[in-house]
Amino acid sequence: TTDIDKLSKSMQKFVEGKRLEIKSLTERDSFRRDFLGNVAHELKTPLFTVQGYILTLLEGAVNDKEIRMKYLNRANKGVERLVAVIKDLDMIAKLENEGTNLDIEVFNILELIQNVFDLFEMKAKKRNISLKFDKVYEFPVFVKGDIEKIEQVLINLVVNSIKYGNPNGTTYVGVESYSDKKFIIKVTDNGEGIKKEHISRLFERFYRVDQSRSREQGGSGLGLSIVKHIVEAHNENILLKSTFGKGSEFSFTLEKAS
Ligand code: ADP
Repeated sequence: TTDIDKLSKSMQKFVEGKRLEIKSLTERDSFRRDFLGNVAHELKTPLFTVQGYILTLLEGAVNDKEIRMKYLNRANKGVERLVAVIKDLDMIAKLENEGTNLDIEVFNILELIQNVFDLFEMKAKKRNISLKFDKVYEFPVFVKGDIEKIEQVLINLVVNSIKYGNPNGTTYVGVESYSDKKFIIKVTDNGEGIKKEHISRLFERFYRVDQSRSREQGGSGLGLSIVKHIVEAHNENILLKSTFGKGSEFSFTLEKAS
């Protein structure tokens, strides 16, 4: 028992020490540490998968044509995930470096939405999802914003609506007047929806409702945090309404140009 007592005392001391250590760190430090830990984890998982398949191939599996193709395809999936995470990390680093430096111009948001529809039409088709405007617009809708960054916001929201939307469903994008000075852009899907308890954390880096499902869809877990970052850099709001089992509506405001 004396040994156990000693051990438990030194454990207590250790824990106490750690507590003080943690307390003395600023919130920013701990945020950075969590982020680094998450990054390492997000990179490690697919990397180990790829390594596993390559090693198995090297150990002889390469001689069997069927297995070779299967393992190469899986290794390739892992590499694709790595690329997705690294691309999004790169984007976050750029956004943080640029701060709130935006390249503001006036543009027709309907045209930008149409561009995004064109870019992802094939991806949507694969899940038999249609990408549509919520109504016929007779005139251009001019907004003020950083066009490249707003395109990224639309891309991330539309891609999510394809990934988490109902197969055979429709993603609607619409623009409405929100106030005297603002429009609101809404991206609506009739997919799985999001339970209330997840909504407040959904825009955090690497937060996912379903880890394996998101990874299987090739997600980096960073898409919505990028969306939030860009919208807030514009001093605008991002909103989310969702009913579990019915669908979600992600929307953001933008300044009217006039
Ligand atoms: P990723 O899609 O790469 O996991 P995101 O940051 O884009 O990362 O999204 C975070 C999580 O939010 C997703 O993993 C998913 O659980 C949930 N999510 C995002 N968009 C939708 C949507 N349209 N419908 C349902 N769930 C969604």
